[in-house]
Amino acid sequence: MITRMSELFLRTLRDDPADAEVPSHKLLIRAGYIRPIAPGLYSWLPLGLRVLRRIEQVVREEMVAIGGQEILFPALLPRGPYETTGRWTEYGENLFRLQDRRGNDYLLGPTHEELFTLTVKGEYSSYKDFPLILFQIQTKYRDEARPRAGILRGREFIMKDSYSFDIDDGGLKNAYHAHREAYQKIFGRLDVRYVIVSAVSGAMGGSASEEFLAESEVGEDTFVRCLESGYAANVEAVVTAEPEALPTDGLPEAVVHHTGDTPTIATLVDWANGAGLGWEVTAADTLKNVLLKVRQPGDEDWELLAVGVPGDREVDEKRLGAALEPADYALLGEEDFARYPFLVKGYIGPKALQQNGVRYLVDPRISPGTAWITGADIPGKHVVGLVAGRDFTPDGTIEAADVRDGDPSPDGAGPLVSARGIEIGHIFQLGRKYTDAFTADVLGEDGKPVRLTMGSYGVGVSRLVAVIAEQHHDELGLRWPAAVAPFDVHLVIANKDAQARSGALELAADLDRLGLDLLLDDRQASPGVKFKDAELLGVPWIVVVGRGWANGVVELRNRFSGETREVPVDEAATTIAAALG
Ligand code: ATP
Ligand code: MG
Repeated sequence: MITRMSELFLRTLRDDPADAEVPSHKLLIRAGYIRPIAPGLYSWLPLGLRVLRRIEQVVREEMVAIGGQEILFPALLPRGPYETTGRWTEYGENLFRLQDRRGNDYLLGPTHEELFTLTVKGEYSSYKDFPLILFQIQTKYRDEARPRAGILRGREFIMKDSYSFDIDDGGLKNAYHAHREAYQKIFGRLDVRYVIVSAVSGAMGGSASEEFLAESEVGEDTFVRCLESGYAANVEAVVTAEPEALPTDGLPEAVVHHTGDTPTIATLVDWANGAGLGWEVTAADTLKNVLLKVRQPGDEDWELLAVGVPGDREVDEKRLGAALEPADYALLGEEDFARYPFLVKGYIGPKALQQNGVRYLVDPRISPGTAWITGADIPGKHVVGLVAGRDFTPDGTIEAADVRDGDPSPDGAGPLVSARGIEIGHIFQLGRKYTDAFTADVLGEDGKPVRLTMGSYGVGVSRLVAVIAEQHHDELGLRWPAAVAPFDVHLVIANKDAQARSGALELAADLDRLGLDLLLDDRQASPGVKFKDAELLGVPWIVVVGRGWANGVVELRNRFSGETREVPVDEAATTIAAALG
């Protein structure tokens, strides 16, 4: 196909849009791929739509290759099924809710587990019908708190969502691994640099859910990796190695000291180093106790919870939240402290917590036999040499302390380093959460009902357009990998000579005959303008019919690799076709 730029619905912009922060957003707008409509809502113009469709097609092919069958649900959905699973409420403000003319409640689907479960339940009734993988490539709606970075986080976006249905855990594992491999193929074909991170903590069985994160500085997700072993995980999923228990025999008794006005770790460390304890004290020798209140879902009342971490570490709210899930939590406020006089702010120690029945969870580094400097529950007093397992026994451990560059990797292979990423895919062994909600049973081999088990798997199709742009661009513009580029070749006519012009049209016809998708810049614009646009649009092969025409050569530029060479006109078409494979 030949698309003439003189007729293409495209206007490139010279300047970056004022509200765009990340490179992909700026470039996709400047190059005329997308246009903003409202916060988190974008229209797809011809070039953008081409890239989107190509990504969709790669995703579709790999889903079909693992036996997925494509279907399509409405985006506008009735409240009922989401009421059954509790998500009508649980989704909170992220859900777009609306009513029809009769006052019935509807929603715009944020994801479709309910509908797939109900549909499979409605159609299938025997174990013989499984395994089953269904998928759709469909528009989703989420009223994101912070729509951001153009199509990276939209309020309307396109997702490939698939769902596996099996009669046993073995089947679910197979479907999960098939998806994992399909995703590796998809992101490989799309030239995306990514890591796979376990999404939930080890406690839930590390492999039950994994995220695919595209490496990118503008990503909202932080992950850590070990360069030696390739281990990668979300900070929420990092498990701290618990030191072996140390013997307590012979350790000195704990001693309470007047420490003066020392409510912070820094002031406490200063005091300790001036007190002649006989060793150099650092914040890591102190034990900091953070007070929270926690509420289980469905409960009215809050429960007090104390979290103990080494004083050189902060409590990481993401890790804390993940560790406490599904419970709600809040840091203790002034009025809460006032209600519990035994909590002496700045001087809280394990003793008062345990005497007053406060649940006390500690970082795994606070292991049996380790000695700490911590609060003595009296203003201006701390205790030195308080030994875990001897002087206090926590109710358990919690992964709430921050993870730092240089911390040991859980696999023992080396240090962790942190990086940022953008979530492009998520695979999740859901189990029976939804099939329980809808009693989705089929008849088993023995004639008894079997409850189906499910997996759900998402790919951010529209987000990938921005992710690929983010990973492949330079200061001049976009640089699409061949697999997703809007065209195979961008042919620039940069010569006013009538013969050169008609020669260029012939070359275009040749390329077209070879099956290449061609963008032909036949506009009456200066060569400079045309080159700038070609660089901005990012089609991987740029062919220039320019001054060299008189000598029988055209210029071949590869926007992806940066390489430029001249080839004889009569070899141009075959050279390009060969390079494109
Ligand atoms: P995020 O943490 O980025 O909000 P999520 O955990 O909410 O993602 P899922 O519900 O697992 O995402 O959705 C599957 C995929 O859909 C994600 O991996 C992501 O690529 C994509 N996605 C999710 N929300 C958006 C959005 N607002 N805009 C564009 N793509 C999105
Ligand atoms: Mg989200």
